[in-house]
Amino acid sequence: MTKRVALLGKPLRRRHSVVMHNAAFAAAGIDGRYELMELDEEDVPGFVAEARGDEFLGLGVTAPYKPLVASLVDEVEPDAQEIGAVNNVVRTADGRLVGFNTDAPGFRAGAELAMGRPLAGARVVVAGAGGVARAIVYELQTSRVASLTVGNRTTPKAASGVEAVTLDSDDFYDALRDADLAVNATTVGMTQLGVTIPVELLPPDATVFDCVYVPAETPLLAAARACGLCAANGSEMLIAQAAIAFERWTGVSGMTDVMRQAVAPLLADPNAQA
Ligand code: NAP
Repeated sequence: MTKRVALLGKPLRRRHSVVMHNAAFAAAGIDGRYELMELDEEDVPGFVAEARGDEFLGLGVTAPYKPLVASLVDEVEPDAQEIGAVNNVVRTADGRLVGFNTDAPGFRAGAELAMGRPLAGARVVVAGAGGVARAIVYELQTSRVASLTVGNRTTPKAASGVEAVTLDSDDFYDALRDADLAVNATTVGMTQLGVTIPVELLPPDATVFDCVYVPAETPLLAAARACGLCAANGSEMLIAQAAIAFERWTGVSGMTDVMRQAVAPLLADPNAQA
């Protein structure tokens, strides 16, 4: 029987996860298939019920169904509960569905690779207070960072218990002057041109990490590189979180290189749409 993992969302335009997971199934010698399942909202509960069957290894979940799927599974792991988002589900041997979050550990892998050092002890600034920012703030809080400042566009929003300042405030600018790592966790650079972080304020040894990976080079990353700063997009975060999910579904680890190679043409595609 071909084992299945289905990504639930609407719309589902990107094929990055399909390509990564199907390459990993092939490399691991598993008869498995990762598929896009663009469903209407009323069809989601029925599909989640179907995923209790032993044909399924689990589910991926993306907008707008993260809250709905979290309410339909049997259990949500504590970190996903605290973050407030389930982006993957694993089916246990006895047919229970457990929701978990891979954005947080995926961010850690991507950011530590970009910085060339652990997050522990780093002074970090995050722009954004949406879904991915909450996962990032959770990971930073559990990583013993030296300091953490969150900036958001609109009136301060809490991200995993941290009160955000505004992106144009002195508090945000002061934190940047002293930062080791500045993270863009907004949709700016993907859905619209623009820059959330005035990179000229950062110290010369700071790293800029943009969660956006389509396009590969955002205005923020270009500005950071022009200032001589170390800069990385969200592609390694994407690959790391996929490898973590694959291991949860199959028990097979070490698929990062296979996934990176498989997704490289898509990540390099200058015509890729956000
Ligand atoms: P989200 O929940 O919709 O949050 C959007 C965030 O962007 C909010 O903080 C919002 O601020 C801010 N924002 C939107 N327009 C803005 C503007 N013009 N100026 C300043 N801030 C603005 O989105 P999300 O799910 O967190 O995703 C954020 C980004 O992370 C996306 O680009 C996504 O592709 C990327 N991502 C990457 C990975 C990866 O593996 N690399 C994983 C997940 C997500 P307000 O609160 O003021 O509206």
